[in-house]
Amino acid sequence: MVTDPVCGMTIEPRRAMAKAEHKGKTYYFCTPKCHQAFTADPQKYTSRTKPRGKSKSASGAREVSANERHRMIAQKAYYRAQLRGFAPGAEVEDWLLAEAEIDKVLEER
Ligand SMILES: [Zn+2]
Repeated sequence: MVTDPVCGMTIEPRRAMAKAEHKGKTYYFCTPKCHQAFTADPQKYTSRTKPRGKSKSASGAREVSANERHRMIAQKAYYRAQLRGFAPGAEVEDWLLAEAEIDKVLEER
């Protein structure tokens, strides 16, 4: 298992949706979004500070774990991909839209 340096989620390398090399080290990401964030600013995520996915720690409303949330988004993103016939090139967009929808649902709980 490895840790996604962006969101702090633990993932299996072979199931990672994206990976990137930085200074000879390979990093794995749970989503294309995390990958994008990392490649945009690798320094930010490779510094010694531990990545924390949860910035909204104060609210006890969020009982959904990072892994569960990820699974929900993946499912939604898959439906989106299916709707457009799995045409390549829009994976990140699918993901971002799916993520926004899931977050909305989770907020409304
Ligand atoms: Zn991630």
